[in-house]
Amino acid sequence: MTQDSKSPIHLVQIETARRSESQPDNGSQSEIELPALSEREIYRKKAYIGFRKIIGFIYTRHSIGATRRWILAKILPDKILYRWKPYQRGGCNRCGLCCKIVFRCPFFYEDKNTTACLIYTSPRHAPPPCVVFPIDPIDLAEVQREVAPAPCPFYFEGQPEHPTTWGAVKAEIRAEWGKRVDKLKEAFDF
Ligand code: SF4
Ligand code: SF4
Repeated sequence: MTQDSKSPIHLVQIETARRSESQPDNGSQSEIELPALSEREIYRKKAYIGFRKIIGFIYTRHSIGATRRWILAKILPDKILYRWKPYQRGGCNRCGLCCKIVFRCPFFYEDKNTTACLIYTSPRHAPPPCVVFPIDPIDLAEVQREVAPAPCPFYFEGQPEHPTTWGAVKAEIRAEWGKRVDKLKEAFDF
């Protein structure tokens, strides 16, 4: 879905814990209308976020964690990036605190009933680091430290065969190398 029109964005949302009592409790989802953003506004806000993250290196260690998440989300193949997902437990309670660490994200929406991200469901603009969170225990611990004492209820139970990113990358390289060697052996009839 592109967002260059000015029509309202309809976003199906997980129900928030802060839902108004005056609203009917009809299960696990509700639909709200969010403010529309033009492409230009989206890119302007993204540029602002990038600027804040960069200057954040001067005064907050959160920029290190946020940059780590951004790089891993962008460069890792899915097999490595999502290796912790089968072990992920808990869930997001939509407190929105991770969208307000150091500065309030310009895509964060909040009213008296709910919280939302204005671009989370956009195929073109969904922010990979936010969508993949939590990547691994290091990533989760970083955000939990920043939002404490409020809880971020995610946790992990068990662990993948290669818990560290570097270990998983090395294992993948070894597997790929092994496949190529096997092909060479086959080709030259070793
Ligand atoms: S801090 Fe955790 S629980 Fe709160 S919105 Fe972020 S991911 Fe969800
Ligand atoms: S989920 Fe959306 S509102 Fe929250 S930090 Fe990411 S882009 Fe901003």
